[in-house]
Amino acid sequence: MNEEDIMGIVWKCSLCGFCPKDLECPAFDDDGRWESSYARGKLSIVHGMIKNPHLRFQNSELAKERLFSCTGCAHCYYICPSGVNIPEIIYTGKKLLVEADNYPKPHLKIVENIKKYGNPFGEKASRAQEWEDLRNNVDTETVYFPGCMAIYRTPEIALNSIKLFKILGEEIRVLKDETCCSGILYRIGHTEALAEILKPMFDELHKKPPKQIIFTCPGCLTSFKEIFKSELGEKFGTTKLLHFTQYLLDKISKLGKIEQKVKTLLSDKIKSPIIWHDPCHLARGLEIYEEPRTILNALNIPYLEFKQNRKDTNCCGSGSGVRSAFPELAEITTLKRLKEIEELGGRTLLTSCPFCEFQFREVASKHSFAIDILDFNVLLMKLLQS
Ligand code: SF4
Ligand code: SF4
Repeated sequence: MNEEDIMGIVWKCSLCGFCPKDLECPAFDDDGRWESSYARGKLSIVHGMIKNPHLRFQNSELAKERLFSCTGCAHCYYICPSGVNIPEIIYTGKKLLVEADNYPKPHLKIVENIKKYGNPFGEKASRAQEWEDLRNNVDTETVYFPGCMAIYRTPEIALNSIKLFKILGEEIRVLKDETCCSGILYRIGHTEALAEILKPMFDELHKKPPKQIIFTCPGCLTSFKEIFKSELGEKFGTTKLLHFTQYLLDKISKLGKIEQKVKTLLSDKIKSPIIWHDPCHLARGLEIYEEPRTILNALNIPYLEFKQNRKDTNCCGSGSGVRSAFPELAEITTLKRLKEIEELGGRTLLTSCPFCEFQFREVASKHSFAIDILDFNVLLMKLLQS
C-alpha cells in the first residue's frame, strides 16, 4: 500500500463514532478515554505521521503505545459502516515507527529469534527433529503446517492433529524447510526480512507444490493466504490452503459412529458445558465460523455461544505482539472473556487457535479460574479414544 492508498482509506472515515463506542477494542484504555486510544484516534495518528512529518509523531512514546497496543483483531473494521480497514492502517503506522526505531523493545527479541532460530520464542531445538518420518514423506500431496505455537508451546494440538489425519486415512508430510510463517513480523511492523526468512520454505513449496496445505493455526493460514500475497506477491498457484475445520467438513462420517462416545466424553472426560470461542483471525479474518459449528452439531456435541460470536467475536487480547509488549493489557482482555464464560455457565472453553488457547490457559491458571481450555482437534481425539 502506498501513501496515496492509505490516505484514501483514512479519508473514508466519516467520524460516525461507532468504533469509539460500539465495540470492545482490546487496545482501548478504559480509564483514559482518550480519542487516541480508540480505533478512530489511531487512524489520526497514522494520518499525522504521513501528512505532517515535521510534527515528529515518529518519535512519540504515546504514538508507539497507541499503535502497538492494537491486537489487529479487526473488530473495528467489522463494525465500521464506511469500510475503513483500520488494522491495515495501524500496521502501516507500526512500520513507520519501526523505521524510526520507535517500537516496543520486547519485539526486537521476536525478530532476532525468528531470524536466528526460525521461531519467535528462541527455542533452539530444530523443527527437523520433530516427525522426521513425516518430513521424509516427500511425495505426499497433503502438507500439514503446524506452526511455531503448536510445535513449541501447545504440542498436543500438532500431535492430535497428526493422529486425526491417520484416522481419516490422509497421508501427510510436514515441510523439511518449515520456518515461522512470520505473520507476527508483519503485525509488529518488522517486514524488512520477510523475503529472506521465508525463501527456503517457498523454494521447497515451489519445487514440489502440494495439492493442499492444512493449518491448525489461523494466524499461519492468514500469512499464507493474505500476507505472503500482499507483501511478497506469493500466491501458491493451485495449492489449496485450508484450516483443519474446513478440511474435515466433508470427512465427518469417516470418524465413525460416536453418539455413545459423546455421552461418555461429556460425563467422564470433559467438564461441560463447553463454550465455543471464535478466534479473530479465523472467524473475522478468514470467515471460518460455520465449519466448526457444523462439525460439533453433526457429532451431537452440545456447546454454548458467547453473546457476541462469529464475525462479531471478541478478541482474546494476545495478538500482534501485544502479549509480549503489554502483557497487563492483554491479560485485562483475556480476563473479560473468562469472566464472561463464568457468567454464561461455561466450564470448558473450546477453540481452534493455538494463540488463543495458550493465552486463555495461562491467564485462567494464573487467576485460578475453574475453566478448562481445549483445542478442537484435541476434543475430537478425546472423543475417538473414549
Ligand atoms: S483492530 Fe482491534 S485492537 Fe486494533 S484498533 Fe481495531 S478493535 Fe482495537
Ligand atoms: S466506525 Fe469507521 S467511519 Fe465510524 S468513526 Fe470509526 S473509523 Fe470512522
